[in-house]
This record gives sequence, structure tokens and C-alpha cells, in this order.
Amino acid sequence: MVATEDPPALIAVDRPMARRIGIEGGSLWIGDDPGLSLPVLEGPTEVHLAVTDRCPAGCTACYADATPQGHEPTLDELRSRLDRLAEAGAFSVALGGGEGSLRADLPEVIAHARSVGLVPTLTTSGLGITPARAAALSDMAQINVSWDGPAELYASVRGYDGARGAERAVRVLQDAGIPVGLNTVLTERTLAGLDAIGEGAERLGAVELQLLRLKPSGRGKLHYLALRPSPAKLAELPEHLERLSARGSFAVRVDCALVPFLAGSFDVARLQQFGVNGCEAGRSLMTVGAAGAVGPCSFWGSADVALDERSWAEDPTLEAFRAYAQDPPEPCASCPAGAVCRGGCRIVSRHLAGDAFVPDPECPRVRAHGSGNDRSEAT
Ligand code: SF4
Ligand code: SF4
Repeated sequence: MVATEDPPALIAVDRPMARRIGIEGGSLWIGDDPGLSLPVLEGPTEVHLAVTDRCPAGCTACYADATPQGHEPTLDELRSRLDRLAEAGAFSVALGGGEGSLRADLPEVIAHARSVGLVPTLTTSGLGITPARAAALSDMAQINVSWDGPAELYASVRGYDGARGAERAVRVLQDAGIPVGLNTVLTERTLAGLDAIGEGAERLGAVELQLLRLKPSGRGKLHYLALRPSPAKLAELPEHLERLSARGSFAVRVDCALVPFLAGSFDVARLQQFGVNGCEAGRSLMTVGAAGAVGPCSFWGSADVALDERSWAEDPTLEAFRAYAQDPPEPCASCPAGAVCRGGCRIVSRHLAGDAFVPDPECPRVRAHGSGNDRSEAT
């Protein structure tokens, strides 16, 4: 993997290309060139690092179950985790929580990430972002503010109307010179409101609108069935993406878990060309929770194996994710989009089917195949 600064990007290159740009792998490169099709990278390119489990917002469907009393690691603990992640070969570290922006020492965390060569980004609800605070965070590569749409839509997801607070935070961060994106969770209501959300993203001057599939984890499990979009609404997603992209004023991103809903509508080569990736957990992505435990992604929860130098290669949950993605059952095994999607979302499978390592029950192709084993449909 090669990181470029302008434009900022991570690019996979094969050995001939690496040699052309002056990189020689020496003894690491003995044997055949695996080209660009490595099933698993030798280190994570991106790590989600929880800098706290503390958050006073109390969002209805918080995937992390964050509370005002949540655990918070010390600055030294975070520095040592960042050191380990840099040694493991990570390029970027997505800081989250809980509400990471409430940490008084967050600027020191960012400075340490930069000092070991990691590119830091942050996801925040916008709580507590003052002009002084924003100025102290100006070394962030990008900050994404959670914004589920204008007032009523926002409240329908989070249980309170925090839209104006989030919008204020967007402006304050932009004034500090930080590129700001928006994160929107897709529910039945917000999916129906995507045109208004696109208008809002344009009005707010966001550099990116990232659409996230609702995940049944944390408190989100309790509200998942009531909030999740129906299959009919999800079928409208590709059209919405075309319309949002046509606006041209911000980049549109979809998260890993939404790929099953695009696979039937977009050419697989086009998805790959635009860097749309499905489940990257264990392939290029790893998570470190606030207590220092390693996990496949932030939504997995309850991991208890502490981060060490063997984590990426040997963590049993990461291994289980890899094994599933490399040899999934039907209909994923024969799916034309399998290489991009990698079997759908394990968090949704775990919740709906009672087993993380079965096909994603909400994927349209899995539903048509009749192998989804969605327990919610039986009740
Ligand atoms: S069938 Fe499997 S691999 Fe194909 S889109 Fe659905 S979840 Fe993804
Ligand atoms: S299990 Fe995979 S697809 Fe689901 S949220 Fe985690 S990384 Fe994304």
C-alpha cells in the first residue's frame, strides 16, 4: 500500500509498480508477486481507536452503549496503543468513542498520532466543540459530524433534536480550517429524507456525506427492528446515491455494511474503481476499544484480548472474520459482487440469525436465495 499526500489516498500497487516508484522489498519479496489480490494485508491500513466510552448525549440507538460514566483510557495508554498501531503498519487512525471531543487532551492524542506517522480523523456528535476547541483540533485530517438530517429526522434517530448543535459544530470546525464531513445513519425515515439530507450537506459545505447502515449493536439492538429501513426502502438506495452524487458539491460515501444493497445495481468493476469496500474487518481494518481490547470492527463489542504485537496476525476473532470472508456459504460463494462485499455484515447476521458467520439476512440476494435465517421474520 502506498499513501499519497496530494490527493490524499491509499493506493494498492504490485511489485513492478512499487519498484518504479523506488520501493524495494528485499527478502520480504521472495516468492511470487501476489499482485493486488492479497486476501489479507500484512497489517491494518485503518484502525478505529476508541479514545473514550464516555458520552453524555444518550442517543437512543448508540452502537457503543456510551454513557456519562463510561471508561476512559489515560493519555499514556493511548500513546502506547498508537505506537503499536504504527508498528503494525497502519496508515490512518479513526478516533471515536463515546464522545472523543470531550477529552481535554485530545490535541495531545492527535499530535502523538502524527508523530508516529498515523493520519488521524475523528467522528463526533459536535458536543462541546467551541472555536478554541476546534482550533486545537486543526491537525485532524478530517472530522465527521454525526448529522442525521434536519431537526425532525435527526430526532427520529437519536431521540433528541441535536441537529442545530451539530450544524453549529460543523461551522466552527470549518472556521478552524478543518475539512468536515457528515455521517448519516440510514433508517426508514432518513432514507426517505435523503433529498433533504443532500440539500443540507450542500448548504453546510460538507466535503463528504457518509451514509451508514444502522447496526444492531450497543443500545442499537433494542431499537433495531423499529428503526431499520424496510427492504422496499433499501431498494431505493442506488437511485438516491446517483442523485446525491449528481449534486457534485460533496463526495458520497457508503459504509462497509451497505454494499449488499448496491451489489445488484452497480457494476462490480465500478464499485471497485470508486473504492467501495464491503466488510474489511480483519482484511485491512481492526478496532481497539477504550479498554484496549482488539476487535474486528467498532460494532463487534465485548472483545477481551488486549492489543499486542501479535494482534493483527493472531487474534482469533480477526481470524474468524478472514476465514468466513474467504470461504463464505451460498449465495455469497457464487455472488458476482463477493470480492467487493465479502459476505455482508457480520453484526447484522449475529443479531438477526443468532450466528455472525452466516449470510447477511437482509441482503436482497440472500433473501431471494431463502438462506437468510432471519429470526425477526418468524416473530
Ligand atoms: S450475496 Fe453475500 S456477497 Fe453477495 S451481496 Fe449479498 S451478502 Fe454480499
Ligand atoms: S462486520 Fe464488517 S460490514 Fe459489518 S460493520 Fe463491521 S466491518 Fe462493517
